[in-house]
Amino acid sequence: MSPPITEQRVLSTLNQDGTRHWLRPRLAHGRFLKWRRIVGFGLILLFVLLPRIRIGGRPAMLIDLSTRELSLFGMVFRPSDGFVLMLLGLTVVLTVFLVTALFGRVWCGWGCPQSVYLEQVFRPIERWLEGSAAQQKRLPRFHWRRLVKWAIFAALSFALSNVFLAYFVGTERLEHWVFDSPLNHLAGFSLVMGVAVLMLFDFAYFREQTCIVACPYGRLQTVLLDKQSLIVGYDAKRGEPRGKPKHKLPVVSEHGSCVDCGACVDVCPTGIDIRNGLQMECIGCAQCVDACDTVMDKLGQPRNLIGYTSQDRLAGKPGRLLRARTVVYPVLLLLAAGGLVWSVGAKPTAEVYVERMAGPSFIDLPDGRVAARVQLKIENETDEDRGYTISLVDAPDASLRSVQPSWHVKPRHSIDVPLFVDLAPGTFKGGKRLVHLRINDSVGFDRIVAVTLLGPERGTP
Ligand code: SF4
Ligand code: SF4
Repeated sequence: MSPPITEQRVLSTLNQDGTRHWLRPRLAHGRFLKWRRIVGFGLILLFVLLPRIRIGGRPAMLIDLSTRELSLFGMVFRPSDGFVLMLLGLTVVLTVFLVTALFGRVWCGWGCPQSVYLEQVFRPIERWLEGSAAQQKRLPRFHWRRLVKWAIFAALSFALSNVFLAYFVGTERLEHWVFDSPLNHLAGFSLVMGVAVLMLFDFAYFREQTCIVACPYGRLQTVLLDKQSLIVGYDAKRGEPRGKPKHKLPVVSEHGSCVDCGACVDVCPTGIDIRNGLQMECIGCAQCVDACDTVMDKLGQPRNLIGYTSQDRLAGKPGRLLRARTVVYPVLLLLAAGGLVWSVGAKPTAEVYVERMAGPSFIDLPDGRVAARVQLKIENETDEDRGYTISLVDAPDASLRSVQPSWHVKPRHSIDVPLFVDLAPGTFKGGKRLVHLRINDSVGFDRIVAVTLLGPERGTP
């Protein structure tokens, strides 16, 4: 028989009637909070600075959507760098797999911008203005403290929107959008404001729901963790049976160590009770660890009734660093990262493509020969101006005509180069003739490309 509705477990953020259970976690001070603050503010600084730091004249990180270029610590990747980008993606994914297998959701609790901004910036402001959880509940909906909080949250969301968008449009264009009249940049201004509204929605209202229902990484935890991965766990063997002590301190042992004070639940930002075992909602923030350590200190008991551990260690089994996924992931990671380093090192300073052209592929010349049209695209992959010369390699019977002797290409730009190859019509077989063009610059770039010229089928057009 199913239990009565009042005993059924619902989601930590849902009331029995299906409405949202609004969480107001208490702040637990302790060793992990101290380190999370240091890490959090260090990361905030990094998030803000990364698109602003210049390496080789380019932002340390920029995913430029307009030019479809990725700048990463001085390197530039374009869609044409498909293989390198694939290796880069593979390296990131394998790093995530390995870190999760070893350290569980350490990213969620300690490094994710969602947790960092919410727990280190927005929530402290809320507590500062509205007080403790109980005071927050009592505060009228339109109290001036709430209005001030919303004004600060809105300003912060606008600032964060700029930080976020700087990764996609670059700091210069963003500053232009922000400081110029919005009427001159309606699209850009709308984008900044739209992202700001989304941020406000997330940090002021949606909050833990992002981790619980929206984030795909959170959903993947069940397959990424194994029983040896680091988790925050409750030592039930030591803690149970839980219960309030009947005697004065120090506690004597009619119960386990857990005094059922509820402190670990009160501080949880996702509202769960870690004593019920590992749950997908746990983001590994260690607030419950700090809360329980404080209780244990007061009771004169050893810490770590709740602590960083693993499922196996909680079951009394020894820790094992070497297991299938901690061997396979590093090997694959080494291969992917090695391939990435090699590919970046071997990346040429320019790319040359033979392009398709509209219109006739050849024209008749007065001397009886034909001029076959060719169009090359030259991409300068360096941060310096480069001049490229083009010559025919293996066709003594042909001559190359170009409107200029060398082609100048600006850093990180490309140009289309129209050319003519003059040939006797009889040299085309089946309307085609293969020639090779050499493209080089004065500083080491040298590339030979094969070009199939299209000409007359039977010696005449
Ligand atoms: S159970 Fe503990 S570690 Fe997990 S989210 Fe809640 S407070 Fe953080
Ligand atoms: S904080 Fe510690 S003692 Fe208190 S209920 Fe949680 S596990 Fe038990």
